[in-house]
Amino acid sequence: MKERKCLYCGNSFPLKHRNRQYCSHECYMENKKERTRERYAHMKLYEPIKKNDEILAKVYSEGLDVVSIERLESLGFTRIYISRQSMKGNKHVNITGRFGYMSYSPTEVLILKIEQ
Ligand SMILES: [Zn+2]
Repeated sequence: MKERKCLYCGNSFPLKHRNRQYCSHECYMENKKERTRERYAHMKLYEPIKKNDEILAKVYSEGLDVVSIERLESLGFTRIYISRQSMKGNKHVNITGRFGYMSYSPTEVLILKIEQ
């Protein structure tokens, strides 16, 4: 009989059903638990960036693109949470998702809508 390696523990098990990927129900459940944990950790990591992006979107939709850092922070914005950086001229653009911001003055930033 053909054998297959369990996706969770790596033990071989006889291949009776083509779709089976785990040697036991326990391994199936453990794997599922791990996936859920990973997804949750990933979500937690991106939550503050997503929140920043929503704040930039909100302020931008009010028609403001130059805004004081103080105002952003009063809305819950945290400057360290960005997803990536790019350059515009010689300035860094900090991107949070659909929006980004760059330094405008020592106390203000310019909000940019990012072309996807
Ligand atoms: Zn297993």
